[in-house]
Amino acid sequence: MPSDQEVAFPVLTAEDRTALAARGRSRQIRAGEVLFAEGDRDFCCFVVLEGAIEIVEHSRGTPNTVAVHGPGEFTGDVDTLTGRKALVTGRATEDGRVAQLDTASLRQAVKELPDVGETILKAFLMRRTLLLGQGFEGVRIIGSRFSAAAHRLRDFASRNGVPFRWLDLEADEQADAVLRQFEIPAAATPIVITPDNDWVINPGLADFARRTGLTRTVEADRVYDLVVVGAGPAGLAASVYAASEGLDVLTADAMAAGGQAGTSPRIENYLGFPTGISGADLTRNALLQAQRFGARITVPCTVKSLGVDGGDRVVTLADRTRLRARCVLVASGAAYRKLDVPRFQDFENGGIYYAATELEARLCHGEEVLVVGAGNSAGQAIVHLARHARRVHVVMRGTDLGASMSRYLVDGIEGLNNVTIHRGAMVTGLEGDGRLSAVHIETAAGGRRTFETASLFLFIGADPNSGWLRGCVALDRRGFVLTGSDLSPAIADTEPWQSVGRDPFLLETSLPGVFAAGDVRSGSAKRVASAVGEGSMAVSFVHAHVARPG
Ligand SMILES: Cc1cc2nc3c(=O)[nH]c(=O)nc-3n(C[C@H](O)[C@H](O)[C@H](O)COP(=O)(O)OP(=O)(O)OC[C@H]3O[C@@H](n4cnc5c(N)ncnc54)[C@H](O)[C@@H]3O)c2cc1C
Repeated sequence: MPSDQEVAFPVLTAEDRTALAARGRSRQIRAGEVLFAEGDRDFCCFVVLEGAIEIVEHSRGTPNTVAVHGPGEFTGDVDTLTGRKALVTGRATEDGRVAQLDTASLRQAVKELPDVGETILKAFLMRRTLLLGQGFEGVRIIGSRFSAAAHRLRDFASRNGVPFRWLDLEADEQADAVLRQFEIPAAATPIVITPDNDWVINPGLADFARRTGLTRTVEADRVYDLVVVGAGPAGLAASVYAASEGLDVLTADAMAAGGQAGTSPRIENYLGFPTGISGADLTRNALLQAQRFGARITVPCTVKSLGVDGGDRVVTLADRTRLRARCVLVASGAAYRKLDVPRFQDFENGGIYYAATELEARLCHGEEVLVVGAGNSAGQAIVHLARHARRVHVVMRGTDLGASMSRYLVDGIEGLNNVTIHRGAMVTGLEGDGRLSAVHIETAAGGRRTFETASLFLFIGADPNSGWLRGCVALDRRGFVLTGSDLSPAIADTEPWQSVGRDPFLLETSLPGVFAAGDVRSGSAKRVASAVGEGSMAVSFVHAHVARPG
């Protein structure tokens, strides 16, 4: 098996170099020439034919050589395809010759040359992993581990793959030193410091995204074939299929690609991954796959409403930008349900979590934590948290853990000696001063207990993210989007359907050309696989709608 270094820095065969060179522009390079620099967007990939290119990063203030590419090697990492800003600089160290491929030529090459394409994509993914492992710092986020605002920024950065270094006010001496250097009082944290020493106090997510090079401009005057709302499994699958089939697709997500699945510590039941796959890895791969085909995915980008203007569907974003599209796919999934207990909002971002990724698990290392819920997502969280926490208390309303949890998870939990299950119980109160410090529970038999804990994990189901669709497409009683045969037959007599001259397709909403897939859809299975399946299927209906006569 090749080592990580060999995967990251392969030497292409003479045949592969020739094939890539034929798809790019062959040109001379001069020693000292900067081919791309940190902060550049849409930078090219260079295949070295003669000479050498040095890759340097400056995230810790001084230049650090990441790699030197000689003949047969090539430059680039995931951001060569994502359109995000370059994290490193590429400079020729000697005179030579390269094949220069811009993003479109590289995509074409990856498509036409599957073997070399696989080598390049694997190298890009591994290079990013190695870069982060070598201590690349990216932005610095300084704050208290107990601060809701700091957690929001770290969560956003980590879910979007933005390299960052976390400096904990309580635990990291450097945090204090950096604050003194910038003359910022601790009370003003969280602060974000970019590699060029520009800093901002508690930025909004859009501002943070802009400063870290994440934001992509959307073209408001363009008519897209398809706008996908939500980049969870359903939206990402649709983006891959649509882009690979030549549709002009834009995908907008309010938070990060991956959706709920992206927060799963381990998805065990998704076909093709016999040992399971973490939500983060699944997302990373899917995102690169979509971008390799040319899909544009933009975050953070909240859609506020849907409308119709002439023959176009119009999606309005939070910043009032209006996107026009021939079709829209609603893939906005579901949002976690909350507890109906006093003071819930006080701790919503100060000790209450809806996911148990590596980030949250590390936060509660060696502590007692409480998990509420008994479904599969609760089961995964319990198993994961038990590896980090001193004890995991599980609060469930019912008495049978196997009633709504898969057997493999129940078996796993029963084998853990630091998990205590509190059956027939519910949370009745929360305590703390700015930060959660205790949780009260009550059992059906009237017993009461208080747990001193700073971390409460909730996995009690989810409600559809469909508020932005109200009044525009038909929803069921609980707010899930109705599609296909679930729509009232009377719809056939309405003007929009008379004018398209057909019945709604299987995944089509009450508005022609607007489709729904995944958890937001009424009657969906609420699984990664079904969301991926529906997202993929929706694209065939988009083709059929777009190809209709007239
Ligand atoms: C912790 C956890 C573990 C899980 N584990 C498993 C598992 O092991 N196996 C399994 O099969 N299923 C699992 N699930 C369920 C699975 O993740 C979901 O069924 C799946 O993610 C649904 O995909 P989706 O694309 O429909 O929606 P979501 O994943 O909910 O994604 C919707 C996306 O839309 C975005 N969005 C919402 N509103 C807007 C808006 N107005 N504008 C722009 N964007 C918006 C959101 O930010 C989100 O990214 C798990 C769920 C959780 C929470």
